[in-house]
Amino acid sequence: MPKAGIQPEVIYEGIPASPGIAIAPVHVVARGFTAPEIYEITEAEVSREQERFKAALEATKRQLIELQSRLEDLAGDNEAGIFEAHVMILEDRSVVDRVHNAIASRQQNAEYAFYAVMQNFLEAMRRIPDPYLRERTVDIEDVAQRVLRNFSDDGDSRPQGPDVSHILVAYDLAPSDTASMNRKHVLGFATEQGSVNSHTAILARAFGIPAVVGLEGVVIDVIALAPAILDGYTGKLILHPTAETLERYKSLSDIKAKVRSSLEAMRGAATATVDGRELTVSANIEIIEELPLVKRSGAKGIGLYRTEFLLLNGEEMPDEKRQTEVYSRVASEMQPHTVIIRTLDAGGDKLPVEPLTDPEPNPFLGWRGIRVSLARPAMFREQIRAILRASAFGKVAVMFPMISGLSEVWRSKEMVRRCMDELDKEGVAFDEHLPVGIMIEVPAAAICADILAPEVDFFSIGTNDLIQYTVAADRVNPHVAELYRPTHPAVIRLIKRTIDAATDNGIWTGICGEMAGDIRLTPLLIGLGVEELSVGPQQVPRVGHAIRSLSYAECAAMSDEALRHTRSQGILDLSMSLARKHYGNLLD
Ligand code: PEP
Ligand code: MG
Repeated sequence: MPKAGIQPEVIYEGIPASPGIAIAPVHVVARGFTAPEIYEITEAEVSREQERFKAALEATKRQLIELQSRLEDLAGDNEAGIFEAHVMILEDRSVVDRVHNAIASRQQNAEYAFYAVMQNFLEAMRRIPDPYLRERTVDIEDVAQRVLRNFSDDGDSRPQGPDVSHILVAYDLAPSDTASMNRKHVLGFATEQGSVNSHTAILARAFGIPAVVGLEGVVIDVIALAPAILDGYTGKLILHPTAETLERYKSLSDIKAKVRSSLEAMRGAATATVDGRELTVSANIEIIEELPLVKRSGAKGIGLYRTEFLLLNGEEMPDEKRQTEVYSRVASEMQPHTVIIRTLDAGGDKLPVEPLTDPEPNPFLGWRGIRVSLARPAMFREQIRAILRASAFGKVAVMFPMISGLSEVWRSKEMVRRCMDELDKEGVAFDEHLPVGIMIEVPAAAICADILAPEVDFFSIGTNDLIQYTVAADRVNPHVAELYRPTHPAVIRLIKRTIDAATDNGIWTGICGEMAGDIRLTPLLIGLGVEELSVGPQQVPRVGHAIRSLSYAECAAMSDEALRHTRSQGILDLSMSLARKHYGNLLD
């Protein structure tokens, strides 16, 4: 890492998405279009670099023309036309001129100059409202990546992440990118896109690394391997930090480490309020690799196992046998605690269960969650059978996502019954009393919670979706992040309504959305009567400490007042006042 203070410090402000501090050089990646190595060149080398650029373009064109004629033979003119468009991108005079200028004015190697210009170009494309044109960024990335490969002699070397600890900077990261990144070297990530509740952010929290999203323009501006600090508490990426800034962050990081270790000392302690109301703090997991983290956290079970992440390594859901192995392992490792396995919730901003022929104009309102499972009974059946089989190896419950009405509950339960009958006949062991729960994350389900409650054993409120659907603000769109307010009076009323309906019907309610792990809101959620909080493994000790510090009676009185409040900020302030009073040292 170069010495601090040589270049002026630059601070980018974004949205804090996962707490923590990382101090390391940055490494810029783009999906399908990875940053090449950057180095300075002398003035005498400028024309040589411009020649290298020309040669890489020529080589790419030759390859594309060859591909085009091969494809014409195989698939006809229509399909092959795509390569014609790709060749046109390479012939775009404005791109070529800008790369030539960038090489000369910045005195940087040709591949990096090309990369920076293309990033700018892609950035502009991504902002185009027309979805068709926006989609074309994928083509451009593809061609650009091909050109980059043609700069090297073997023509096919894919740049890898550096072999040192770094902060990953990207335009966007798909959940699969985040899950498969080299965790050993990646200390944090910073993206232009995304929001606190995108799955990328959720995974970062699960991995315990800081993340900042919504950092506009960062991918283009950042110079590879520049020294940096990522502040996941306040949402900053600081490039070229001064010696003072570095010092400040190092001591902040030490203080946070001390708080963490004092919390860890309480791991596993009972989570009851000072006046004796018990709550369960369980963990959310996406992938089985998180299990050691969950066990270390002291979580009393898994309140949400997001099985759609099984799709990470392939397009299809693994078969019944493989799913049974995975679920059984989670169930037996978590003994004696319960594991709530949520059936596939593909779609939305998550992994698709199968590529749709037409892109969904409104993916969050489209084909996702239980809708996909009910439309694919063979796949649904395999998953339910696997969950039932796993219930012989530990305490398991099943939960259905995106329920919007009674008939989806009936049809889902019918599948459970059918699978139970089958396994019974086959002589396979399973828990005949397997608890069946539903996610309350569609406003219709919250409003009709009294209709749904008699049908199930528990409710788990998915606030990530419940908020976005209630206030009509996409959970991954930074432009509407301001509207996405967990303490919006409408959201609080829906939560209360859900809990009341559950209580009236003798079932329990948990919360497994990100709101459950936000300790500013623990007083409010306890006061509203929630009985379980399922949070990222990293948040378990903090939430546990918050519960042990609070009085239920005080929280209930505060939340009664909150329910009469008209403003999100006022409700947040009410909850914060109790949080500050009882565990101010934990608030960031
Ligand atoms: C939620 O919506 O709050 C939830 C927990 O589900 P997911 O984040 O997986 O959509
Ligand atoms: Mg959800």
